[in-house]
Amino acid sequence: MVYNKAVKEISSHFYKTLCRERAIELEKRFVYADNAATTKVSQKALNAMLPYFTENYGNASSIYSLGGTSARAIITAREQVANAIGAKPNEIYFTSGGSESDNWAIRGCAENGAKKGKKHIITSVFEHHAVLHTCEALEKQGFEVTYIPVDEYGIINPDDVRNALRDDTCVVTIMFANNEIGTIQPIEEIGAICRERKVPFHTDAVQAIGNVEIDVNKMNIDMLSLSGHKIHAPKGIGALYIKSGISIPNLIYGGAQERSKRAGTENVASIVALGVAITDACENISQKIERVSKLRNKLIDGILKIPKTRLNGDREKRLCGNSNTSILGIEGESLLLSLDFMGIAASSGSACTSGSLDPSHVLLSIGLPHEIAHGSLRLSISEDTTDEDIDYILEKLPPIVERLRSMSPLWEKMCKNELIK
Ligand SMILES: *Cc1c(COP(=O)(O)O)cnc(C)c1O
Repeated sequence: MVYNKAVKEISSHFYKTLCRERAIELEKRFVYADNAATTKVSQKALNAMLPYFTENYGNASSIYSLGGTSARAIITAREQVANAIGAKPNEIYFTSGGSESDNWAIRGCAENGAKKGKKHIITSVFEHHAVLHTCEALEKQGFEVTYIPVDEYGIINPDDVRNALRDDTCVVTIMFANNEIGTIQPIEEIGAICRERKVPFHTDAVQAIGNVEIDVNKMNIDMLSLSGHKIHAPKGIGALYIKSGISIPNLIYGGAQERSKRAGTENVASIVALGVAITDACENISQKIERVSKLRNKLIDGILKIPKTRLNGDREKRLCGNSNTSILGIEGESLLLSLDFMGIAASSGSACTSGSLDPSHVLLSIGLPHEIAHGSLRLSISEDTTDEDIDYILEKLPPIVERLRSMSPLWEKMCKNELIK
């Protein structure tokens, strides 16, 4: 706690930079284990996009050949994104990212529904805030929202969706895989239920893309959000898949870009990078899942050897790169700072980064008490992660936990109250 206070007194950004530099200097090692937050742009995606900043700078709407080069690059990227999810190119709309795609899909369906007196929305309790806050905003505008619960393993029961459907339901939006605990949802079944009732079904697949095989037709998905920066493309680019036959209102009025639905000169370089990155992410996906899950299992097993720890989320139905554990008796924030000191970039369930100390809504949704929901550790690895990286984390983590617990009044209190088994 004393340590924690001192840390807070120093401007946190400056402190963090300093820490990382010191850690790298001391340890000569940096392990990036926060791929669920964002990923490094791949060399291949970067190489592909660079010419669109330099020689190929034309506006894709221009008639001369320089514009044509950009226009053709966008056509190729649209095909690549479509191929990655089994869609047709004219069903792909480029956006600025996952949040924009989520907002557009949900608000679009809500607007359509309102015209027919359908003002009921179904979502889940543990969606990303891009979905939850959109639904909350719609509630203020008179929509009614049903929040489907998840079980203790972080999985939704499709029957709950079936039972929640009403004649006035205008959209069902359920995430493909959770960003904190990595659990993969029964999307195909939920999609089938919605299809049967002719209710549009949207899924936020930002975390799932490149980590789970996705076929929008086979899985009965009407709308799907994806984002570039979670799959080694740059930040600020994403896409929304809208099944042909479904029409939602335009997002941005202006030029004829994105079939006039989302106007504005295209972000050509990033679109090109997204096309390359998504192709890479979805190629040889089963080999990748096999390799990365092995590393993840080693990581999880290693962490669970520390006394009084638990795995959050289902063991099997989870993203190959996701590990989320509760380490009882310590604050997520102090843990992250200590890990950062050792050159390990990780994330916690508590929303300390946003300045609030609220425990994560995801961890509360799977039934964790507040005290435990504060001390979770999310380590999200990628295909770039090595065996040595895992060894390094497993070498550094236990002594950090021991030190923080020895200083923690929370730990003492938990031991006394027998909150710990
Ligand atoms: C990151 C993320 C988003 C937001 O995507 P941006 O491109 O950062 O706007 C939405 N949903 C999930 C599940 C995410 O992980």
